[in-house]
Amino acid sequence: MKQSQLFQKTEKNVNKADISINAQLLTKAGYVSQLMAGVYSYLPLGLKVLLKIENIIREEMMKVGGQEVLLPALQPREIWDKTGRWDTVDVLFKLKGARDRDLALGPTHEEVVTPLASTIINSYKELPLAVFQIQSKFRNEQRAKSGLLRGREFRMKDMYSFHTDEDEMSTFYNKVAEAYMNVYNRCGIGQITLFTYAIGGTFAKYSHEFQTITESGEDIVYRIPGTNTAINKELMDDIEALNEIIPNYQVGDESKLEQLKAIEVGNIFRLGTKFSDAFDLKYTDKDGKLNGVVMGCYGLGPSRVMGTIAECLSDDKGLVWPEEIAPFKIHLISLAFDDQEVKICNDIYDLLLQNNIEVLYDDRKEIRSGTKLADADLLGIPNRLVVSKRTLADHSVEWKKRTGNETVSLPISAIVSQFASSK
Ligand code: ATP
Ligand code: MG
Repeated sequence: MKQSQLFQKTEKNVNKADISINAQLLTKAGYVSQLMAGVYSYLPLGLKVLLKIENIIREEMMKVGGQEVLLPALQPREIWDKTGRWDTVDVLFKLKGARDRDLALGPTHEEVVTPLASTIINSYKELPLAVFQIQSKFRNEQRAKSGLLRGREFRMKDMYSFHTDEDEMSTFYNKVAEAYMNVYNRCGIGQITLFTYAIGGTFAKYSHEFQTITESGEDIVYRIPGTNTAINKELMDDIEALNEIIPNYQVGDESKLEQLKAIEVGNIFRLGTKFSDAFDLKYTDKDGKLNGVVMGCYGLGPSRVMGTIAECLSDDKGLVWPEEIAPFKIHLISLAFDDQEVKICNDIYDLLLQNNIEVLYDDRKEIRSGTKLADADLLGIPNRLVVSKRTLADHSVEWKKRTGNETVSLPISAIVSQFASSK
């Protein structure tokens, strides 16, 4: 992509007073644009990152056997009345449809997927099953001041699994927990993401959250020293549950744990038969007896993950994208002036394209070198290749990784082999 034609502009004047680091950086770099509090447009650079994160999630969910579906965001009141959640979900967006019909915009999809599953599942022979979707969700959050971390319209991957019993459900639940860690590792936040015990879930003492350590996090977690396991503060009063996690835990032992601020980037819940009961989702077992289907649900927010990466991995110069989710692999920057030099830059760009190496080409004319380099830092693409009169004198480009300070002189003839092979 040529930067001169990109639907993007670096914003110099972002209001720093009332927005979070991720919103400031992503807006400044032209990845997203706020329409109103908690609601963002994704520009080409931002959408590329979001889709890469979503594809990683998609791959990992498919590896555990999830089948992708797409469920409606627009939902009738009746299904929400069935579970009693029309009145209890305080963030539910309610609206009126034609003929004054009460409708909701989906904040989650148990009410849609459970009756759908009941049209398909009859026998134990069909179980287990898991379906997932990646979709925009709507929640009328009280506070939406954290950029992509807490949106009123945001992206979510939600998966729902269906089982004959709790044991079978647990096996799948543990596989999903592993798949979630694969997602965070591939997104570059695995090292700072803690497997966290939390309150919640039906028929289970606790659910699990995946909490990424960051000062801007809204949650407080207690890390068990030397592990990547933590306990959400809200759970800390339940000594019985705590004893299952940390044997012999006693009141006052918090001081032995590491207290950290964190953001919840995913969570997994055992639902038991709560929703199956509400929608009469049953299966016939080996003996011909009818039983409620045991369910699990698994949420992961791609847009929140994107905001978290911007928040946690950036530096004072701008965004820093891990290679697997960066909008491009290479930022090729032309500091060339005369026609001959520009032609060589264009040739390098064409060569990269021919070899399917993702490249953003800063071909902008009449922009100062300093501005181009500062923009490159702000945009955060992992490899910067600068072409100038000086580098062309020895048929090379200057290569710098966004995460380092060192520059390397890379012969033009070696560029393709360098980047086609390196992942
Ligand atoms: P929180 O505790 O942060 O309000 P939640 O527990 O209500 O979130 P779930 O309903 O389980 O979250 O949603 C699943 C996932 O969706 C969360 O782990 C998070 O990654 C993402 N998510 C939830 N709410 C938002 C939001 N308002 N904006 C962006 N992502 C969100
Ligand atoms: Mg939560």
